[in-house]
Amino acid sequence: MNDKDLRADVAAHLAFLAQSGVDGFSRAADWRRRGPGNERAAQEPAAAPDGGEPAPAAEPALEGPAAPDAGGALARIRADLGDCTRCKLHQLGRRQIVYGVGNPDAALMFVGEAPGHDEDVQGIPFVGRAGQLLTKIIEAIGLTRDQVYIANVIKCRPPENRNPEPDEVASCEPFLFRQVQVIKPQVIVALGTFAAQALLRTSDPISRLRGKIFHYGDARLIPTFHPAYLLRSPERKREVWDDMKLVRALLRGEEPDGRA
Ligand code: URA
Repeated sequence: MNDKDLRADVAAHLAFLAQSGVDGFSRAADWRRRGPGNERAAQEPAAAPDGGEPAPAAEPALEGPAAPDAGGALARIRADLGDCTRCKLHQLGRRQIVYGVGNPDAALMFVGEAPGHDEDVQGIPFVGRAGQLLTKIIEAIGLTRDQVYIANVIKCRPPENRNPEPDEVASCEPFLFRQVQVIKPQVIVALGTFAAQALLRTSDPISRLRGKIFHYGDARLIPTFHPAYLLRSPERKREVWDDMKLVRALLRGEEPDGRA
């Protein structure tokens, strides 16, 4: 990595940490000069840029080779779901089905586990606290929620946010698989154990799967920690940042080195 790339990478990493709510650092010159007795400077906003290169905007592929009318095809899958009663979750307090959101032609797709309370109320995946962190993670690689597609394995909220049960996953995952087939993302990020297990047909936990790159049809699949887990274990954010750098590289058409 050359000096400029290294600076950009450090800048993006700091931006990622800051956006993720990790504070206590800054790229400002004042902060670099901080020392005993100068702590206040670290907390004050930078008066002027420190002369470093701003992180260049990422230039990832934003759209993949989705079906000619991916939006229409997604709407047909949603219509097939209907007011779903295929599993017991329809009787266990769900308000509505949370289908998916984003760009039907997205090159990058995120797959989570199941809606929580906020998602159940709003009908949109990842809008609660974990969702806000996911939004920051997406923005840290230079993308917006509108440019990616976000869905879950399970489309209805399990009571008390309990884990999805095998029969619920079995009833619901075919709709996720169809969503993926239509969107044809270049890269899929599986958020947490349930997404990774459903997509990879494995019973391995996320701790075993993370750090590897998988193929899912023509897509590359990157398992990473679920944002809700990051809220409880913020020290794992570094690994997610590594995964997101890999995602960014794959979207740029770069082949990763080192990983499987
Ligand atoms: N967690 C998920 O897995 N999905 C959501 O939509 C929200 C929280």
